[in-house]
Amino acid sequence: MAEIKGTSGNGQKPSTQLLTTNQGRPVGDNQNSVTAGRRGPITLDDFQLFEKMAQFNRERIPERVVHAKGSGAHGHFLVTQDITKYTSAKLFSKIGNKCETFTRFSTVGGEKGSADTVRDPRGFATKFYTEEGNWDLVGNNTPVFFIRDPLKFGDFIHTQKREPGNNLKSATMMWDFWSLSPESLHQVTILFSGRGIPDGHRHMNGYGSHTFSLINAAGELFYVKWHLKTNQGIKNLLVEAAEVLAGSDPDYSQRDLTHAIEKGEFPSWSVKIQVMPEAEIDKFKYDPFDLTKVWPHGEYPLIDVGVLTLDRMPDNYFAETEQAAFNPSNVLPGMGYSPDKMLQGRLLSYPDAHRYRIGTNYDLLPINARKNAGANYHRDGSMRFDGNYGSAPNYEPNSFGGPAQDAKYTERPYTTSKTVEKIGRYNHREGNDDYTQPGDLWRLLPEDEKNRTAKAIAGSLGQTPLRIQKLQLSHFKKADPDFAYRIVKALQTDEHPEYLHGPDAAELTAAGRLPEK
Ligand code: NDP
Repeated sequence: MAEIKGTSGNGQKPSTQLLTTNQGRPVGDNQNSVTAGRRGPITLDDFQLFEKMAQFNRERIPERVVHAKGSGAHGHFLVTQDITKYTSAKLFSKIGNKCETFTRFSTVGGEKGSADTVRDPRGFATKFYTEEGNWDLVGNNTPVFFIRDPLKFGDFIHTQKREPGNNLKSATMMWDFWSLSPESLHQVTILFSGRGIPDGHRHMNGYGSHTFSLINAAGELFYVKWHLKTNQGIKNLLVEAAEVLAGSDPDYSQRDLTHAIEKGEFPSWSVKIQVMPEAEIDKFKYDPFDLTKVWPHGEYPLIDVGVLTLDRMPDNYFAETEQAAFNPSNVLPGMGYSPDKMLQGRLLSYPDAHRYRIGTNYDLLPINARKNAGANYHRDGSMRFDGNYGSAPNYEPNSFGGPAQDAKYTERPYTTSKTVEKIGRYNHREGNDDYTQPGDLWRLLPEDEKNRTAKAIAGSLGQTPLRIQKLQLSHFKKADPDFAYRIVKALQTDEHPEYLHGPDAAELTAAGRLPEK
């Protein structure tokens, strides 16, 4: 039988062995309520009972709307390569620089108690505590996402949650939305490939996913994509094993991470960047700020930056993992954003979500607090539990020597394109190629993974109305006719004869690509 770990590490140890109320009054009896006689009822003066009940009733904070089920670990980041030609961030000023980190992995759609081994993207968020403030790289285990405009985020996430009427998960909602949003095809292909069910958190890559920027000391700007490549090797679960684990060990990934770190097997990731000089943004064949696209490795090779290692589990899950609040707007001097619309939506909505979920002063909680010196004129708010800057002036400018701006930290202006366009709502589907990259991915999958991917898609798509199947199959066909063909084979239905016997099959045969029936 496993023992419960005592209070150790960074956790706050009880300051006394004497049990007290919240106000410090010693407790004489923690077993029996105050009752009118042996058989009750309980009297209203049992303040201790009411304090315990009231505290208990308020233990839960709202769970995250997305990424509710997660695992966190402390670690450190070591700079191993010189990238000062791209950024002036002090963290990267010399090889050997190191900072503390906190990483949280998660599934996306499930609730806080849901199973770890589901087919779902995984969140991969790291907070780097640096001498210039906190840098949060808040990405996923996939380099792309389902949508490219944040206006659709709430709609999309609703399809990943529960049907409003019956509170059940719904393949129809998902495929209805995806089939009407072909920009999702790339991420859908990754989701149903082997990488859709990673074997725990240690064996998957992380990606910053968005395009960010780096700015060097000369003020030159480079657009970058961040990659975190697992040094444990990619390992995925086959769907059959994942389903068994979802029943027998729903906390599989949390357990795997905890056990590995407790055994001293510290997982690590090689951190790399792809770099696109600002002058090249109009030359790239895709919109470099489109979150549904990757930058091909051949054109933008991965450049080594450093190593992230996780070596300590939280002492207290709620205080650290649950209250951790990551925010893509947390970047360092020498770093910046990009015109990626999804990134901009997240810059606004992440801190907004934290204020709702944890409170106005969430940045003061130890897990989120900066470790460097810092000061500003924000004051008050609920649960202001530091000294609130005492009697220091709470306005700026002031003549009392309060903290002041330094122009050298002003954000560097950037351009969205060399051609300046009018501000407005532009149709993001117009002239956009949603099919080549999912097709590229399909073509690089090994034979057995192609078949498993097609089977996984068929298992889900087969639960939806025919009109949705037909529309979605037309997207798979545009990515690669073989992709659609194999899904239809796996659907084991006569409802889509055009793919098996009709003109689509003829097209595949002509190209010499019709797989065996
Ligand atoms: P490349 O051949 O240069 O890159 C292929 C990349 O695909 C690999 O480096 C690997 O990314 C990833 N990959 C390999 N096997 C699988 C798999 N079974 N499932 C999912 N991803 C896999 O070609 P491109 O750069 O043109 O990319 C082709 C496709 O590969 C893309 O459309 C995208 O779907 C996928 N991909 C590309 C990435 C990129 O940054 N270029 C990153 C991840 C996926 P990794 O090394 O990061 O594991």
